Amino acid sequence: MNFDLTQEQQMVKKLMRDFSNEEVAPGAVDRDRTGKFPLDIFKTLSQMGMMGLPFPEKYGGAGADTISFAIVTEELSRACASTGITYSAHISLGGAPLHLFGTEQQKQDFLIPICTGESLGAFGLTEPNAGSDAGGTETAAVLEEGKYIINGSKVYITNASYAKHLALTAVTGRKDGRKEISAIIVPTDTEGFTIIDNYEKMGLHASNTTELILDQVTVPEENLLGERGRGFQQFLVTLDGGRIGIGAMAVGIAQAAYERALNYSKERKQFGKSLSSFQITQFKLADMAMKIELARNMVYKAAWMKDQGRKFTKEASMCKLYASEIAMQIASEAIQIHGGYGYMREYEVERYLRDAKLLEIGEGTSEVQRMVIAGQIGC
Ligand SMILES: Cc1cc2nc3c(=O)[nH]c(=O)nc-3n(C[C@H](O)[C@H](O)[C@H](O)COP(=O)(O)OP(=O)(O)OC[C@H]3O[C@@H](n4cnc5c(N)ncnc54)[C@H](O)[C@@H]3O)c2cc1C
Repeated sequence: MNFDLTQEQQMVKKLMRDFSNEEVAPGAVDRDRTGKFPLDIFKTLSQMGMMGLPFPEKYGGAGADTISFAIVTEELSRACASTGITYSAHISLGGAPLHLFGTEQQKQDFLIPICTGESLGAFGLTEPNAGSDAGGTETAAVLEEGKYIINGSKVYITNASYAKHLALTAVTGRKDGRKEISAIIVPTDTEGFTIIDNYEKMGLHASNTTELILDQVTVPEENLLGERGRGFQQFLVTLDGGRIGIGAMAVGIAQAAYERALNYSKERKQFGKSLSSFQITQFKLADMAMKIELARNMVYKAAWMKDQGRKFTKEASMCKLYASEIAMQIASEAIQIHGGYGYMREYEVERYLRDAKLLEIGEGTSEVQRMVIAGQIGC
């Protein structure tokens, strides 16, 4: 067993740590206030070859591994979680299903623009009446004369305003009395396709979260992604990978909150001593450091298993669940260590708490993760 990052992974870590400190962190507070999408950062990430990081070079990717993807997501999220979720969704929800299930032609047409950064990646699964129970999908696609005509709506879809196309799930028929769900690639400029970007969120203010309305949206039959009727299984596989991204985001936010708390505890004096000299503060910081170490190891292990081609459903769920829950605990404790200052926007730690909360909800809530893990351990 070897816990060292490879030379390549270390290079990615250093590159992304420097980039995030210099280019991403400085605007994070402002973006949180204004909700301005970090388009310039993504232009630079494209130039750095990060937008197709884990995808094959022949599609414009960098052919890197999932651990590297986790490192990039963690480092971006440490500086700005809105940037982190945009990147994570782009790769793991936008690019991954095309890479895993797309035909050669679909990869040429749709994966390449994602790898080059020409389009951001997005994935439309959730609907007003189908969240945790994604099998409750109501969006319907009817095949007529070689074309799918799609009607319905999706909610909370990340990145869609900046995507040239996205895969979404729709009911394409019924089999044995059950809905047959398929995934279909839809160019976002298709007639009848409307993207609404006006949610007022608790956190992740600079990330793009949208509602999609599909009114007689017509796409060629060749836009079916993977096998007809396999959309449900495909999104389960897609979400396994996505959960590594959410776990990595959580580690990044937790790391940022911990670093702030550690630094503040050394500077702030009460009773004539720094907070860091009180044992109770030391123990809080020790617990934070330990939880982050464990969460990061869990994320890396799930990523490593994915790279080995092994089944990693359980590990992905565990890392997502644990990392998102400790990110909330650590963000809250970081505010506590800052006292009243922590409650003020100026000190930034409250942003970590608001941003971290999504990680217990998106890509399967904590309850759903426990259901997945229970299933995997044979309950
Ligand atoms: C900022 C943001 C970005 C998102 N990005 C995307 C995206 O890009 N693409 C996409 O498709 N979706 C996206 N989502 C949707 C997200 O994945 C869903 O919100 C999530 O899966 C939960 O679904 P829901 O909101 O309908 O909650 P519900 O499913 O209604 O759940 C409500 C509560 O009930 C609990 N619950 C539900 N069923 C059970 C059960 N059987 N047993 C016990 N408890 C249960 C849940 O755990 C939760 O606590 C995003 C959401 C947000 C907020």
